[in-house]
Amino acid sequence: MARLIPLFSGSSGNCYYIGSKKSGILIDAGRSAKQIKEKLASFDIEPSAVKGIFVTHEHIDHVKGLRVFASKFKLPVFASEKTILALRDMEIHDGSFQIHSVENKIEVAGITVKNFKISHDCADGRGYKIYTEDERVLSFATDLGFVSDEVFENLCGCDFAVIESNHDVNMLLNGPYPYMLKRRILSERGHLSNETTAGLLPELVKKGTRRFMLAHLSSENNTKELSFETSLCSLKMAGFEENKDFTLNVSPKENINLESVIF
Ligand SMILES: [Zn+2]
Ligand SMILES: [Zn+2]
Repeated sequence: MARLIPLFSGSSGNCYYIGSKKSGILIDAGRSAKQIKEKLASFDIEPSAVKGIFVTHEHIDHVKGLRVFASKFKLPVFASEKTILALRDMEIHDGSFQIHSVENKIEVAGITVKNFKISHDCADGRGYKIYTEDERVLSFATDLGFVSDEVFENLCGCDFAVIESNHDVNMLLNGPYPYMLKRRILSERGHLSNETTAGLLPELVKKGTRRFMLAHLSSENNTKELSFETSLCSLKMAGFEENKDFTLNVSPKENINLESVIF
């Protein structure tokens, strides 16, 4: 049984640990290396348990602690070719750690990782599909403007799925963001709204994915309750029963209560 720990989630930083106490991988490193190390320690996980970091894309809320964490603990980093170039431009990849282009299939610490393209305003973002040693499957899709066929297929038939539920459309439209930023967030290269994700989940239940974590909530344009209720309502309206046909939770921003999921 593998464990998923949402160390940090949302616009102020994203970082997830997947694996056992002894070994695992990180998806993104969007907080300072010190904060990531401390949060791992609160789960009794040493930084040496981390065997590799998979980067979704180059936005700072996903790579803030990448350089320091990867170089300090001598970790291989995996990202798309264009993300690697972007990280070079940003001087985050300065040669102090090994970085590899994500291929079809990468194996790290007994975990097999495949990737799929996501549509977002970045160089070339990726979602990840993770196969654990005991053949459990987790799919991970945040920072995407819409759900392409490729994304949908990769979210089907998983034991667990982490899916973005970034904003409530009304809160965004009536909120303080400048018009251009609102347009960007709502665009096909922006972020998934509560409403879009809520529409997606019943379709995924029909395809065998039944356990969900809503992630990457905007602090300005969303609340935990709103994202949860929107998806819950949609799943119930489709005739599914909570904790029988599906489970639903929201990725905590700071994970103060030390939540994790066994899948
Ligand atoms: Zn982000
Ligand atoms: Zn982003």
